[in-house]
Amino acid sequence: MSILNTNIKFLPSVGEKRAELLKKELSIATFEDLVLHTPFRYIDRTKFYTIAELRKSDVAIDVQIKAKVQHVQLIGEGRKARLVVTVYDGTGVAEMIWFHSTSWVLKSIDREREYIFFGRPSLYNGGVSMVHPEFEAHGMSGGVVSYGVQGVYRSTEALRNNMLGTRAIASLIRVMWQRIEGQIEETLPLWIVHKVGLMSREEALREAHYPQSAERLAKALYRLKFEELFYIQLNLLQAKGVRTERSIGHIFSTVGDRFNRFYNDVLPFPLTGAQKRVVKEIRQNSVTGHQMNRLIQGDVGSGKTIVALLAALIAADNGFQSAIMAPTEILAQQHFESLAPMCNKVGVSVALLTGSTRKKERERIFAELLSGEIDILIGTHALIEDPVQFSRLGLVIIDEQHRFGVMQRAKLHIKGGETPPHIIVMTATPIPRTLAMTLYGDLDVSVIDELPPGRKPIKTIHTREEQRLRVMGFMREQIKQGRQCYVVYPAIDENEKLDIASVEAGAAALAEFFPPSEGYCSVVVHGKMTTKLKDYGMDMFRRGEAQILVATTVIEVGVNVPNATVMVIESAHRFGLSQLHQLRGRVGRGGEQSWCVLMTGDKLGADSRARIEAMVETTDGFVIAERDMELRGAGDIDGTRQSGQAIDIHFSDLARDSQILADARAEAIELLSIDPLLNGGENFQLRVKIAKMRAKESGIEELDLSKIS
Ligand code: ADP
Ligand code: MG
Repeated sequence: MSILNTNIKFLPSVGEKRAELLKKELSIATFEDLVLHTPFRYIDRTKFYTIAELRKSDVAIDVQIKAKVQHVQLIGEGRKARLVVTVYDGTGVAEMIWFHSTSWVLKSIDREREYIFFGRPSLYNGGVSMVHPEFEAHGMSGGVVSYGVQGVYRSTEALRNNMLGTRAIASLIRVMWQRIEGQIEETLPLWIVHKVGLMSREEALREAHYPQSAERLAKALYRLKFEELFYIQLNLLQAKGVRTERSIGHIFSTVGDRFNRFYNDVLPFPLTGAQKRVVKEIRQNSVTGHQMNRLIQGDVGSGKTIVALLAALIAADNGFQSAIMAPTEILAQQHFESLAPMCNKVGVSVALLTGSTRKKERERIFAELLSGEIDILIGTHALIEDPVQFSRLGLVIIDEQHRFGVMQRAKLHIKGGETPPHIIVMTATPIPRTLAMTLYGDLDVSVIDELPPGRKPIKTIHTREEQRLRVMGFMREQIKQGRQCYVVYPAIDENEKLDIASVEAGAAALAEFFPPSEGYCSVVVHGKMTTKLKDYGMDMFRRGEAQILVATTVIEVGVNVPNATVMVIESAHRFGLSQLHQLRGRVGRGGEQSWCVLMTGDKLGADSRARIEAMVETTDGFVIAERDMELRGAGDIDGTRQSGQAIDIHFSDLARDSQILADARAEAIELLSIDPLLNGGENFQLRVKIAKMRAKESGIEELDLSKIS
């Protein structure tokens, strides 16, 4: 047994009680856990870095620069104000940025004077910046110290109260290090270590705890992250390779008459370049004889629905049925209403099956599915209930994938009979590329990265309570021009405090401003209503009979009312960033200018403010997703939590380490192209590691669709 498995309580000065605490607070139970508890940040005051030097590499260390203030600029006003101090050190310029304490900094900093700035540099668009650096005039107390790059360890309140603060943890590690030195085994095959030029594992861990220089530290961290990401990629890619190789899939060999007639005569608009590309990818994927497992990512409004339909038409022309699943009845119905008439024109028959489909209709649908009369079945998860049998299911399309549990996906899969249907999942939750590669490394990914032409970018405005009247006035103006408005409240929850604006109260207040006696009609839709009532309200809004829809987030995904131009989000600070973005995507779907109004109270926490700012700054879903990931950490992104896949990431930061991920992925791909089953003797270690990872994952086996077929 390796010394690394030693219980931490045997380390001098730890003992039972603190061992328990370490386990509870930081999941540190063994020597190994402790050696993996590397510093969460580093500082280097051994020298002055030059700006040119910082521009060359993304140093993960807090460093100091010595630079002269060139100019000072206050950008924005009120809460959004930020102070940007541009400095120059002879090798380049950098920006020092403050979001608060701006007036204090303004007072204390003089132009033309040289200062030492100390902080974490970041690279953005080729420029170097530091947020909230410490600073002092050059020639005062600070300067160069001798103790080298220092690691700062994560601790917690409870640990600090038991004399296990940052420094105490550092000294525990020092004591342990003496015992384990020379006994840390390599976990990657040597040939990879050499090929990629990695540090050995022991060297990397030593360097991570006791860095000798910024360069060596960077190399050490690269090694630790590379290893972690490499195994994740290898695992996913290997599974995918094996599955693709072994899977059989229907072959959609022809693009037939109905598809062509639809494309040439029925399709109401030309496809965007991105839509065409994705249709082509689907098409190529459906003639390989292997099952397709494809994720289509496209921002809200990018036109995923029509792409799904075109795929279903290809299936139909090849004699196969398709199922399109939406997360809510409202959405299923909307798909049905927009797609069925178009399909009927080319003789493709479409049916709608949801929880509220009447018994008689239901029986008819069941019969026609079995006889093959129905080509496309649209519905909610009711589609996966047992009585639903297809005669020849060839394609399953799952819209807004993140709303679906993994189990449901698997169940649908079974319905395909001997040969599994092709599977397309569509999501509007923009997942950052790095995360997508990690989570869905086993799926093929298509991206619709282009919006249909003629869309005007949505204008986003942040307003406060005092401006409510103006907002109402603005809505009135829009309604006068024939437009419609959404007003969205955070979900109703009895447990929440009274001060939360509730939908009902909000609707009542709105009714006073938009009285029915003057011809206004507003409808209320929220999660606690019956489906029937909800649909009734939605329908009135969709048909344009109601000008205002007051709702909770039930309208979050997919609802398509192109005539709506205003989205007012009440208590916007209560929503997550990706949710806000989804909501905003409900407007701007027609040719008219649209607005998103974010209402908040006066006091906003730093995170809320950052979310609101991101919304005001950009409408690009991928930028929003990246920002969301930075703010919340990757583990918390919608798609992650709901994908059912645990990503066990210790060293890497998916928001920052995309290059390392790409490197690791490239290495994994190359290795698998040579040894797809990892049978080679030199790859024994990899095979064992992956077997262990899979065993650990076995609780979520259903994600691996191949096991079911
Ligand atoms: P999402 O990707 O959010 O599901 P939808 O499929 O609902 O987006 O499409 C949004 C709107 O854009 C719909 O009204 C749809 O008819 C329209 N649309 C889709 N593709 C195009 C296109 N190529 N040109 C013009 N309008 C399009
Ligand atoms: Mg959609």
